[in-house]
Amino acid sequence: MPDCLFCKIIAGDIPAEVIYQTEDVLVFRDVNPVAPTHLLAVPKQHISTINELDESNATLVGKMYLAAKEVARQENIQEQGYRTVINCGENAGQTVFHIHLHILAGRSFSWPPG
Ligand code: 5GP
Ligand code: ZN
Repeated sequence: MPDCLFCKIIAGDIPAEVIYQTEDVLVFRDVNPVAPTHLLAVPKQHISTINELDESNATLVGKMYLAAKEVARQENIQEQGYRTVINCGENAGQTVFHIHLHILAGRSFSWPPG
């Protein structure tokens, strides 16, 4: 998608601190971290929101979580714990319309979320 920020990062047109990638998923550091560790796992395929997912994307979504597990190991946050979040749409605070799994760690998180 030409106007999509994360598609540009995936294409290498906008720099990002990439820490892990597979054929299908890229993980990079959030430019505006809200926790000591704040990573984003994105599918290399453009999908705008969870609402656009269909059965053909089921394996891809699983791979996003497997990438989260792998980077949690790499970043040594597996034992202390971490939060994974996908915001969907306006009320959830989604600002980039290319689905992304936030991986947050390094402090404790409240529940329910704000
Ligand atoms: P959302 O609010 O859509 O769930 O999350 C979007 C995230 O993308 C935010 O946490 C924001 O800081 C991050 N972000 C926005 N622009 C960039 C960028 O150019 N590079 C990186 N690495 N992260 C970005
Ligand atoms: Zn995109």
